Amino acid sequence: MSSITQGSYPPVLQDAEKERLVQVVKDWTVAHGLTVRPPPAIAGNDTEGILATSAPVTLFPSPFPKSCFEEAKAIQTTYNELYALISQDEDFLTEMVKEVAGGDEFIANLWNVHLRVKKEGYVQHRQNLALGLFRSDYMVHQDDASLQIKQVEFNTIASSFGGLSTQTSLLHKHLAQHEYPLLSSSSSASNLDLPSNDSAAGLAAGLRAAFDAYGSSTLGHPTCVLFLTQSGERNVFDQRHLEYALSSSGPNKVPVFRLPFSDILTHTTLASTPTRQLLYTLPSNPSLVFEVAVVYLRAGYGPGDYPSQEAWEARYQIERSNAVCCPTVLTQLAGMKKVQQVLATPEESNTNSVPSALAKFMPPTSEKTQRLLKTFTNIYPLDTSSSGLHARSLATSPTQCQKYVMKPQREGGGNNFYRSAIPEQLAKIPEEHWNSFILMEIIEPPALANSILRNGKVEVGGVICELGVYGTCLWDQSSGEIKFNEEAGYLLRTKGDKSEEGGVAAGYGCMDSVTLV
Ligand code: ADP
Ligand code: MG
Repeated sequence: MSSITQGSYPPVLQDAEKERLVQVVKDWTVAHGLTVRPPPAIAGNDTEGILATSAPVTLFPSPFPKSCFEEAKAIQTTYNELYALISQDEDFLTEMVKEVAGGDEFIANLWNVHLRVKKEGYVQHRQNLALGLFRSDYMVHQDDASLQIKQVEFNTIASSFGGLSTQTSLLHKHLAQHEYPLLSSSSSASNLDLPSNDSAAGLAAGLRAAFDAYGSSTLGHPTCVLFLTQSGERNVFDQRHLEYALSSSGPNKVPVFRLPFSDILTHTTLASTPTRQLLYTLPSNPSLVFEVAVVYLRAGYGPGDYPSQEAWEARYQIERSNAVCCPTVLTQLAGMKKVQQVLATPEESNTNSVPSALAKFMPPTSEKTQRLLKTFTNIYPLDTSSSGLHARSLATSPTQCQKYVMKPQREGGGNNFYRSAIPEQLAKIPEEHWNSFILMEIIEPPALANSILRNGKVEVGGVICELGVYGTCLWDQSSGEIKFNEEAGYLLRTKGDKSEEGGVAAGYGCMDSVTLV
């Protein structure tokens, strides 16, 4: 990276300057919905649910290598294609689930939903269309002189922050135009290269494509998009931005409703037709019944959303309905860390070859495949294959484990084990269940500094940035035809360099945007 990272950027703030910048950011974020519901410690007794507060955000956009940014955006449609193909390969996913389900009841239960739908005629009755609103996450890896993006994970369910991300790019543009020029040491913050970021509109376009493709109701109902949400969701405005972008995304309006995951069985039913249309009765006016064209899950990705068998019945109802699912159970399972590992682990005999799992879906010698391969870092199974046994020796060694993160098949942050915690955790798990985890090399991006405004306090120091690129993909599961495939903007999340986890919603990271260098 250029000199922008080395000392003079971001500018050092005088106390009065910091105070002014913080005030501007506090007001701009609230005025533009770069907000979250406050954490309980701040909300106090907000029993009416009327409070909103600024999402944690950096005071300056973080420098990001232009070549890395452009590569991440350029390969997104290839990643979309790859995951659309994986989602349709039931045999492959069966193998993946077999590997991990023994030690992972949640994955076993999800798989069971799929099997139940399959048993009753998944080929004849299911909706052919499936929608993915994906996000591929990366960190920059410095290899001698060159900088490369390395994939942290690929999200196939509830990829969040597309709504707030557009606003964060706009915030930093506003600051670059009106505030940074007023700073006493403003020179390093002039001429920032701030790319546009249409993540909210991009994700809405994916939902719109699925809504339009569903067509009109043969039962005579108006059609709608249903967002399935978590109760007590603090990141609600992120979701609202998508909803508003979707409502205003075309000539015909799209009714969008939010339904807590826990209320699915109360407010939806299946039509008693072979097609099994999903019907949503508006709780505020039960005479209004909508046919659900698209179900968008912002819940259902972790065990916490399934406290009882009823919740699994609710997921089953969605999965066997005629609505276009974003995602289907198979697409959700395609996002397992196990799948990412298998795509990245070369055959034991030949460490230079294209891993056979990747070659199964992408032509091994194509330029696209080679570009995907470059984004992989070392990931190992923890099974009894020879690469698994090698990984076991790394994971249980007090020195070697310092370079790794161990991940279960979970989403949403807070589930991984880092460095010294790995051998400690393995000691607690029966060895026959170790294969439900993967072991991944820790990516160490170049050191950067920034200031984070979180809950009204400014934290200054070293930071680590993680780039996410959104992708939208609509495909036909029976013909394999891809009907819509777009890159859909980006997310930059930044965390203090002492923190292992980076989730904004989980309270570790903050919103950021890139200035290209
Ligand atoms: P989740 O599905 O819970 O979001 P992730 O795989 O994205 O799990 O891991 C959570 C966070 O942990 C990431 O956002 C990142 O900050 C950190 N992390 C995960 N894997 C790596 C890695 N290989 N190198 C560096 N940091 C990582
Ligand atoms: Mg993640």
